[in-house]
Amino acid sequence: MSGRVIVVGSVNVDLVATVDHLPAPGETVTGATFAQHPGGKGGNQATAAARLGASVSFVGGVGDDPLADLARAAMVAEGVDVDHLAALPGPTGVALIVVDRGGENLIAVASGANAAVTPELVAAAFDRLAPGPGDVVLVGHEIPTATARAALEAGRARGALTILNPAPAAGIDRAILGLTDVVVPNRIELGQLASALGLAGGSTVEEARGLLDALGGARVDAAVVATLGAVGAVLVRREGDPVEVASPGVDAVDTVGAGDTFVGALATSLVGDRDLETAVRRAVAAASLSTTRAGARGGMPTTAELDAFLDGNTEGTGRGGTFGSDRLSGG
Ligand code: ADP
Repeated sequence: MSGRVIVVGSVNVDLVATVDHLPAPGETVTGATFAQHPGGKGGNQATAAARLGASVSFVGGVGDDPLADLARAAMVAEGVDVDHLAALPGPTGVALIVVDRGGENLIAVASGANAAVTPELVAAAFDRLAPGPGDVVLVGHEIPTATARAALEAGRARGALTILNPAPAAGIDRAILGLTDVVVPNRIELGQLASALGLAGGSTVEEARGLLDALGGARVDAAVVATLGAVGAVLVRREGDPVEVASPGVDAVDTVGAGDTFVGALATSLVGDRDLETAVRRAVAAASLSTTRAGARGGMPTTAELDAFLDGNTEGTGRGGTFGSDRLSGG
């Protein structure tokens, strides 16, 4: 596969305490077990893409603390190019997670270095990476809005395909969407974007169509790819009917990171060929497969695992969900 996936986004370390019950305000719960995992949507998406065989460069920032080494080493171990992962003064981004045995959680995120990733840093990285028409620039929003915008602008100016994962959705405006070829929101983000554009209240497809009008597809026809959890995903383009891709039947044990697997897989497929429908089918399969193993990155499949899974599954016939008309049309 020629061409690269250039991910511009966040890197965190997830610090996880597992407890018998979640603490109430002011309460101290003892007896927790502790684990730390590399995370952040950008880092997760880069990992998903690398496992699926993409050549991945990451643009972002970590701090100057020991957690930075963990975050960086995890990406290096996946074969991600971290030459443009800046070491910035201050702490690495952290998600403090307290989870009980039933899976209920409390999460506080301190964005740390992610908040210090500037448009200038992106511009310098893009000057050296020199993306071109064969590349995909994948941008997340756990970094400053101005930086995400600069990345999309630079990707577009150089002829790359631009993908926006609008997570979180707050602050994404028409100017940013206008620089985007393919936007990949989950159901909640789609609703929030529709609201921000004054289009809320319709069905999933109606909201996606509204969002589509705000996109400025340049490299490909603009597309909205909305992920719908266990149901699957829907691809909405200007021409033709929406393409609904149902999740194959899997025994989901951990859905954390499923969305990131989806986005990384989609970006990877769009490097190889620009057929969006094939890319969405592969992304749904990869994301569903990722839910069968624990951890945000733990379940992300390799190309061989994904191909084997696809060979053994006939898309759309599994238990994972069919597109009941109410799910799509009922909003
Ligand atoms: P996010 O994790 O960003 O909220 P979604 O929940 O929409 O995103 O999930 C992204 C993708 O992960 C879905 O499109 C689907 O392919 C897969 N997925 C998520 N949850 C499940 C599940 N319970 N069973 C099977 N696949 C799932």
